[in-house]
Amino acid sequence: MKPEVIRTLRDLRNEVARWKKDGRTIGVVPTMGALHEGHLSLVRRAVADCDRVIVTLFVNPKQFNDNKDLASYPRTEDEDRKLLATIGPDVLYMPGVEDMYPEGFATTVSVSRLTEGMCGDFRPGHFDGVATVVCKLFLQTGADRAFFGEKDYQQLMVVRRMARDIDIPIEVIGCPTIREKDGLAMSSRNIGLSAEERERANALPNALRGAAEAIAKGGNPTSEIGTARRTIEDAGYDSVEYLELRGADDLAPMTKLDRPARLLVAAWLGGVRLIDNVPVAPAR
Ligand code: AMP
Repeated sequence: MKPEVIRTLRDLRNEVARWKKDGRTIGVVPTMGALHEGHLSLVRRAVADCDRVIVTLFVNPKQFNDNKDLASYPRTEDEDRKLLATIGPDVLYMPGVEDMYPEGFATTVSVSRLTEGMCGDFRPGHFDGVATVVCKLFLQTGADRAFFGEKDYQQLMVVRRMARDIDIPIEVIGCPTIREKDGLAMSSRNIGLSAEERERANALPNALRGAAEAIAKGGNPTSEIGTARRTIEDAGYDSVEYLELRGADDLAPMTKLDRPARLLVAAWLGGVRLIDNVPVAPAR
């Protein structure tokens, strides 16, 4: 039954070599598990676009800047396998930490510029960890296409840049954010919210959308961002780490809307860090 579970690089390489010999296109969907409909949307897209699909599940210690966060990250492996079986990617690749980072491992892949600010500032070392593991997964799977969520927009841009810069022949495809009915972006971290916090959580996407619409209509970005920040805090969020307007292609800070942009936010609610972002297009 699909997916076949593979845990070692040797087995993965053997499978991939057979596929390549037959001329199959290969898609990869990197995840850290605790799968939800957001992840599954990427897997469906990959299955529709590629002959063979590998979903990777690896909770990457190098991208956690906080050991408590790593220890408490949700792990639902059996459930994840069942969910994937409803879609049928070919392989679920679950390497062990000691296989990915054996004794003596000493290499870091580091992307500059795009990692400055936002999650790059608030989670030191995070994007080095992401770029390093994703680089390894791209090379290990030999995939032609990789599917990432726009939910983690800065990550999507960093990964795409990394692959281009170091000439990994893979197309990085961004897929839309999947949301709960009330607008909250789906996230493995949402299960850390209490029922009462969960009810208030949609203040974040609502404020974000409100500010994006106001800015698109000509509102001043600085004052709209200030209003949205206050709305989020008034709704009971503990703090807003950042709420920024950035260029959609280069993530450069923007003070006026003179080209396609992205409004990005990170905020804390009851010990859970939530991130989200939406596009902001200038009126034509
Ligand atoms: P994670 O397991 O959180 O590392 O996420 C694995 C992939 O799923 C990343 O490419 C994420 O951007 C993507 N993803 C997570 N949540 C969503 C969502 N709500 N909608 C679309 N993609 C998502």
